[in-house]
Amino acid sequence: MTNLSPHLRQATPVVAVRGEGVHLYGEDGRRYLDFTAGIGVTSTGHCHPRVVAAAQEQVATLIHGQYTTVMHRPLQQLVAELGEVLPAGLDSLFFTNSGSEAVEAALRLARQATGRPNIVVCHGGFHGRTVAAASMTTSGTRFRSGFAPLMPGVVVTPFPAAYRYGWDEDTATRFALQELDYVLQTISSPADTAAVVVEPVLGEGGYVPATRAFMEGLRERADRHGFLLVMDEVQTGVGRTGRFWGHEHFGVAPDILVTAKGLASGFPLSGIAASEELMSRAWPGSQGGTYGANAVACAAAVATLRTVGEERLVENAEAMGKRLRAGLEEVAAEHSCIGDVRGLGLMLASEFVTEDGRPAPEIAARVQQAAIEEGLLLLLCGAWNNVVRMIPALVIDEAGVDEGLRAWSAAVRAGVS
Ligand code: PMP
Repeated sequence: MTNLSPHLRQATPVVAVRGEGVHLYGEDGRRYLDFTAGIGVTSTGHCHPRVVAAAQEQVATLIHGQYTTVMHRPLQQLVAELGEVLPAGLDSLFFTNSGSEAVEAALRLARQATGRPNIVVCHGGFHGRTVAAASMTTSGTRFRSGFAPLMPGVVVTPFPAAYRYGWDEDTATRFALQELDYVLQTISSPADTAAVVVEPVLGEGGYVPATRAFMEGLRERADRHGFLLVMDEVQTGVGRTGRFWGHEHFGVAPDILVTAKGLASGFPLSGIAASEELMSRAWPGSQGGTYGANAVACAAAVATLRTVGEERLVENAEAMGKRLRAGLEEVAAEHSCIGDVRGLGLMLASEFVTEDGRPAPEIAARVQQAAIEEGLLLLLCGAWNNVVRMIPALVIDEAGVDEGLRAWSAAVRAGVS
């Protein structure tokens, strides 16, 4: 009998037959509250009627336009509508299909545009699974081991992960910036450095928000040394953090912005945005692809952007994120094994630790499994897989948050005992 490869460890035994809003329906007849959103993808919820309608219409009109052969209407619309939400000056776009591909597009652009070889990445960052993106990924050896030799020219600098260091945010930020200066002085001189790549909130690395001073420090060094600041907003973009882009929390904009996941509510679409001046430094024909900017994905993305705007989903993510966080903090207060609750907007997590503060992946796994019994689907993250994350669709309402918190509270009680 054929089967999926065993290396694909599915987090739940659920066989999903239907999705609607924040819920998935299983073959087992049960309804599950989906706090995974397909790893932060179904931003407008499962099968939002507007996204469904746009995709259905596009399927019947033109499925594959092939954007290096022809322009097509959904792509024209998407370019125009992304212009409404992108930071000022990032007016040139290039589309791919997955987060990893978009990260690679940013990497290639940074190298061609600067003529410099090295990419500085933040420790704990996750940027994807293709070999170049995996080379830039330092959120867990499981994403790298056995793939050597990885791409050379990647240099790792600390991220201000205050809880992990056991420091306050100011101390962690000061340390991270000092270390970056040291890296630039000792390993990768500015003349060799094409870009620094950062997630506004470390995603797979444990849902750790950056700090304003850290992001300002990166911007200042990029400007001073003439390298590029790349923000991987694959997970933090499109309203997830309670702002349209995660970097808006810090008042610091990138030179290259990488987007994917929530952009098309579940259709494969990703891309990078930069200034036209920067993008024009990419060598003609050096980037492209057969499937990039698929017409159905673009139509779904346009519907997603309109839905996010008209249903005020960014504001909703902020409000519901506050409510969810307050509930998570209440649960944490009752359980010493939850060492930290953190995140931004609807990108929240609880970190499980032992009595002496060491990572406790066994407890996190038990809680995750107990949550399934309670009808709540959750994912883990962090280097030790001891962080339980919550990334419901941005359409979640108060009843959904409260349903999730009831299940969470029960799952934690069951998981720790
Ligand atoms: N960057 C970040 C920040 C991500 O969270 C992810 C996926 N979790 C990726 C890149 C890779 O995206 P994909 O799996 O679509 O290649």
